[in-house]
Amino acid sequence: MASNSSDNIQEISLDGHEPKSESLAKSLQGDDFGVNENYVIVDIGANLTNKKFTRDLDSVVSRAQDAGVTKIIVPGTTVHSSKEALRLTHLYPGVLYSTAGVHPHEAKTWGDDTLDELRSLLQQQEVVAVGECGLDFNRNFSPPELQIQVFEKQVELACTLKKPLIVHERDAHAEVLAVLRRHTAQLPASVIHCFTGDADTAKAYLQLGCYIGITGYAWKDKSSEGVRQILNDGILPLDRLLVETDAPFMYPNTRASKLPQHVKQGLTQRSVTFLQRYCTFQRNEPCSLPVTVEMVAAYLKTKPEQVALQSTFNAFKVFGLSS
Ligand SMILES: [Zn+2]
Repeated sequence: MASNSSDNIQEISLDGHEPKSESLAKSLQGDDFGVNENYVIVDIGANLTNKKFTRDLDSVVSRAQDAGVTKIIVPGTTVHSSKEALRLTHLYPGVLYSTAGVHPHEAKTWGDDTLDELRSLLQQQEVVAVGECGLDFNRNFSPPELQIQVFEKQVELACTLKKPLIVHERDAHAEVLAVLRRHTAQLPASVIHCFTGDADTAKAYLQLGCYIGITGYAWKDKSSEGVRQILNDGILPLDRLLVETDAPFMYPNTRASKLPQHVKQGLTQRSVTFLQRYCTFQRNEPCSLPVTVEMVAAYLKTKPEQVALQSTFNAFKVFGLSS
């Protein structure tokens, strides 16, 4: 569980694996932070092992950095892809980090050696979290009962290793909450990634100490109790917010209908240019993250720099990153 939910960038009290406060705040803010038009953002989930990125990964990573996305976490979804994600971190040290886990869709790949293989991957310092793991009852690519067993094993692993958890949940919040609650006492910082639920679900996760990951899904979620409403109503506090692209998925459709004027006006030309020049519905990229930061800021009625700064601070803290 998050150790201190009232932490924020102004009152940094750090312990354990958390980053050194002064150097972090300094490096995040920089001397000219605020006048610099660029952000410093951590994309806590981009699927760069996806074959859509094999041909031009170098350009994808450097575009991300140009857009201010200075660090990217590449999730594993099977043992194989967790190894592949770790391999990528060696190509971009200090920029890419990875996770090790078995996605609910892949629960049926769980075998006798899986737990040991994940455990040994998690010994590497570039592997910063257990996941993506969780439950997806929307598509049920693996049987629900098996998904629950496989999820629970990974929650136990995260508790034992004291590594954060990245949770994928779709149409299964009651069951995910039930599993997490069984481990409340030892639960490490847990992230509900690509949040797609409603206000009550968000509140229940926040009450458990979870962080919430916002993706481009927010652009298309029009439901009256959905992600936009949660941001607008101040239900999700800045100190629990993380941002991610989930690339190549979750393209942030800034042209979606019925967007309030203040959200459209909150977008900067620079961020929109990265989106329009390099990203499509078929292939979203980490360089699109600034538009999502700007959207979140518009709903929270704060500056995008503040959302970038605080979400980056949260990511450093949760995943033990250093600058
Ligand atoms: Zn996911």
